[in-house]
Amino acid sequence: MSIADNLKHYKSEVETDGVKLIAVSKTQTNDAILEAYHAGQRIFGENQVQEMVDKQLQLPKDIEWHMIGHLQSNKVKYIAPFVTLIHGVDSLKLLQEINKQALKNKRTIDCLLQVYIADEDTKFGLGHDELIELLRSEEFSGLKNIRIVGLMAIATNTKNEKQIAIEFHELKVFFDGIKVSFFRKDDYFKEISTGMSADYKIAIEEGSTMVRIGSGIFGKRIIKHFKADISAN
Ligand SMILES: *Cc1c(COP(=O)(O)O)cnc(C)c1O
Repeated sequence: MSIADNLKHYKSEVETDGVKLIAVSKTQTNDAILEAYHAGQRIFGENQVQEMVDKQLQLPKDIEWHMIGHLQSNKVKYIAPFVTLIHGVDSLKLLQEINKQALKNKRTIDCLLQVYIADEDTKFGLGHDELIELLRSEEFSGLKNIRIVGLMAIATNTKNEKQIAIEFHELKVFFDGIKVSFFRKDDYFKEISTGMSADYKIAIEEGSTMVRIGSGIFGKRIIKHFKADISAN
């Protein structure tokens, strides 16, 4: 199946549920991205700042770029002029820097707070208490150029679908509580970014509003160092 075929398959499957499809194009070539673009995709997710900046310069201007990787504060300035949504925000310090750079660019930047849900040590994210503390803080209430539009999470990398479903379900319960406590009147707080190629169906069943699909659309990722030598797929 071609990239365009894969894309159409995911689009029809996901978007009938009203869920947004983020095509995760990290390590993929511009040609591969353009194939998805010409098949109708406009939202692309990247996890490296430099790569996203380069692609944004080279590719059509109506693409919405989502930063899905862990973002370092000192690199926010490079993506602040154009990024549509930052998925993985997991500290007040990072949020303050995004706010500062958004202000410099005279815009408001939408963010998702990343919640730690996996049964692993390696994943980034805020614990429930930490997230609540952040939202309650005086520093947070002073940030006028960012908008928290929802939560993002990555489930445990396991074949145990029941465990994945429980993790996504608990996130949805937590999301509903946060909505009532902090964003009751804010219609924009509505996004749950969960689900990747391996677990997006479970994620959608458990309330996801945005799935991040990479390998399912583009095929296996090329290893970074060989990027220049091997074309995608
Ligand atoms: C790479 C990546 C994805 C996409 O993963 P696939 O398994 O290729 O679909 C989704 N979310 C994040 C945060 C990623 O880094």
